[in-house]
Amino acid sequence: MALVALSLVGCNVSQDTEDSASKAQGVRANVGCPDEGAAVQVLGSGGPIAEGPGAPGRAGASYLLWIDGKPRLLIDAGAGSFLRYAEAGGKLASLDAILLSHLHADHAGDLAGVLNSGGFEGRTAPLPVVGPGAAPRFPATSEFLIRLLHKDTGAFSHNGGYLDGTENKPLLVPHDIPTEEGAGSPVELAIASDYSVTAHPVHHGPAPTLGFVIEVDGETLVLAGDQSFLSERFVADLTGLKPAILVAHHVINGEPGQPRGLHRTPEQIGEMAGALEPERLILGHNMERSLSRLEEGLRAIGLNYDGPVSVAADLDCYAL
Ligand SMILES: [Zn+2]
Repeated sequence: MALVALSLVGCNVSQDTEDSASKAQGVRANVGCPDEGAAVQVLGSGGPIAEGPGAPGRAGASYLLWIDGKPRLLIDAGAGSFLRYAEAGGKLASLDAILLSHLHADHAGDLAGVLNSGGFEGRTAPLPVVGPGAAPRFPATSEFLIRLLHKDTGAFSHNGGYLDGTENKPLLVPHDIPTEEGAGSPVELAIASDYSVTAHPVHHGPAPTLGFVIEVDGETLVLAGDQSFLSERFVADLTGLKPAILVAHHVINGEPGQPRGLHRTPEQIGEMAGALEPERLILGHNMERSLSRLEEGLRAIGLNYDGPVSVAADLDCYAL
C-alpha cells in the first residue's frame, strides 16, 4: 500500500476533529461521490438504537463501494439505510455483490427492502450474497435468505424468485464464510476483476461476524465491522497494512459497564488503528453513548493513533 495523499474530489469529508465534532451533531453532509476512482460512502452511520435527538439522522450500518461513479458493492443494509441507499443512487442492477458483516438487524434489517426495490430493476445476472456461516441462534447467510425469501415459508415469500432466479428476479448466490468465533482464516472472494475483497472473521460476542478488506487501484479500504478487542487474529493479519481508510465502529465509550465483549472502546479502536496504520480513520456506527463523550474518545484513540480521524455522518463519501 503506497503512502500517497488522498484524493478527495467531489467528496465531503471532515478533515480534523473539529469537523468531527460538528458531524457528531448529525449535520447532513454533501451527497455524492466522485465520478472517477474508488470511494466508500457511508449510507448508515448509526444504530442499533432509535435515538432521535441523541444521535439524529443516523441509519443503521451500511456502506456502498463506488468505482468510477458506479455502485459496485453494498456492504450491510442496517435498519433505516434503505432511504440512504435510495438517496445515494444505489441500484441492485449495478452491484457485483452484497456483503453482510453479520446478521444483526442494524446491519441486515433493510436487506428485504433493498431486494424488494431491486426486483423492479429487471436485473437478470446472478447476485452473490456473502456473509457469515452459522452459529447457535444465528442462521448461516444462506439460511437467512431462505427464511426471508422462500416462496412457501419465507417471511417475504412474494420475493421468492430471488432464490431460483424466476419472476424477473436475479438469482441470489449465497456464500457462507465460517468465522470460528472470530478466529477463522481470511477468505479471498472472487467477486470482480478490477478489485479484490477479503473477508476476515472478527469477534463480536456470539454473532458470527466478518470484517472486509477491499483493494482497488492500489488503495486499500478496511471495514472492520462490529468487533471486540478479542479480534486478535484480525489485527495480527492486518498489522502494518497501511490502508488508505480504516472504518471502525464507534459504538461504545470507555466508561465501565459498556459491552466490551461486543465492541471496541475508543482506546481499543486506537490500538487497532495504531497496528493497521491507516492514512485516515473513519468512525461509523456512532451512537449517543459514544458521541456524547466524543472528545475524550478522540483523546483515547490518540493514545495509539495520531492520524486524521473523522466521524461519519450518513451519506458522507470518502475517496480512496
Ligand atoms: Zn452493529
